Amino acid sequence: MARTPVIAGNWKCHMRLDSAFELASGLRDRIDDVQDVEKIVCPPFLYLATVEVALTTSSIMVGAQDVHWEDDAAATGEVGPQMLEELVDYVIIGHSERRHRFGETDEMVNTKVQAALATGLQPIMCVGETLEERQAGHTEGVLLRQTRSGLNGSEFPDGFIIAYEPVWAIGTGMAATADDANGAIDLIRREIAAGFGQAKADTVRILYGGSVTGDNIAEFMSREGIDGALVGGASLKVDAFAKIVEEAARVRTGARGN
Ligand code: PEP
Repeated sequence: MARTPVIAGNWKCHMRLDSAFELASGLRDRIDDVQDVEKIVCPPFLYLATVEVALTTSSIMVGAQDVHWEDDAAATGEVGPQMLEELVDYVIIGHSERRHRFGETDEMVNTKVQAALATGLQPIMCVGETLEERQAGHTEGVLLRQTRSGLNGSEFPDGFIIAYEPVWAIGTGMAATADDANGAIDLIRREIAAGFGQAKADTVRILYGGSVTGDNIAEFMSREGIDGALVGGASLKVDAFAKIVEEAARVRTGARGN
């Protein structure tokens, strides 16, 4: 089945109220008309409402960067799925910074995925090996474990989104090669097929993330298994993010450069 590509921008802990509004408005002016690619921006919680306003009626969707697994709970500092669902459609879950800087476990990621799905949010579930794991030859094991555990017990809808993000490629300027990324993504898809059937696995959008730019996105998008990108640094500037979106659309529609 044809999978609609996704380009999602993770703004992490960047922006202020005015710059968040400006970035969203600038993207709206620049890429609202780009078709055949699902465009998502994920601002900090605090700016979700502002960005929603800037993108009202536009084709650019909004996501959060994390979600707690419960609402109406004694969970100081957290934001529950129903709260988010009032504002956004997507949520990044299990980003490597959450896993490695803030101690998020596979079980927590799974609980968040289930809570998000139950509330109608579309998770963007991140998996990926660290440099140490890669050097020790554990990449496959880590990806299989994180994929299996993240989806455990879920009945996820067609089009579910996973981002393969090798931790060593995030924010380092050292992107994986398209062949390496494609190989890892194939492995993830095979694992989903083993657990949920090939037909279901074929609907899952699996993105690559890690130092994606306007200059390397075409190479990633030229691989059939890579369904788009999760973008950090290059999502913070209108021109840089717009180029990634435009290139992704160009490669996938086979259009000649413009
Ligand atoms: C990310 O934060 O998910 C990411 C991929 O960052 P960057 O594009 O900056 O490597």
